[in-house]
Amino acid sequence: MANDCLFCKIAAGEIPSTKVYEDEHILAFRDINPVAPVHVLVIPKQHLDSIDDFRPEHDELLSKLFAAVHAVARETGVAETGYRVVTNVGRDAGQQVFHIHLHVLGGRTLGPVA
Ligand code: 5GP
Ligand code: ZN
Repeated sequence: MANDCLFCKIAAGEIPSTKVYEDEHILAFRDINPVAPVHVLVIPKQHLDSIDDFRPEHDELLSKLFAAVHAVARETGVAETGYRVVTNVGRDAGQQVFHIHLHVLGGRTLGPVA
């Protein structure tokens, strides 16, 4: 676990979250401040700062992350209606939590990407 990382603490169960999906490597939970009816964060339990840290040795983890997105879309009902997957990297993207997370957004018509 990275020191003082909020999402490592959530992954370890030290801070409560509303779980949508969990397996050995991945956790998905509801965003505390949702911007859409469905707003779920999908994280690897392993700490990496952002997707910019992905390297070839993380290929399997990357694939598991997207398999979890697929599961979350079905669990939350947006697989039929559509959804958006967003991940922020660094300052200009407004990244607030430096533990990789994919935002899964849906349940309403979403506007332009940026
Ligand atoms: P970022 O801006 O880094 O891409 O997104 C961070 C997200 O984490 C924000 O949407 C914010 O609402 C969410 N968030 C911050 N703290 C917590 C928390 O303690 N619990 C949950 N479930 N979400 C959080
Ligand atoms: Zn972390």
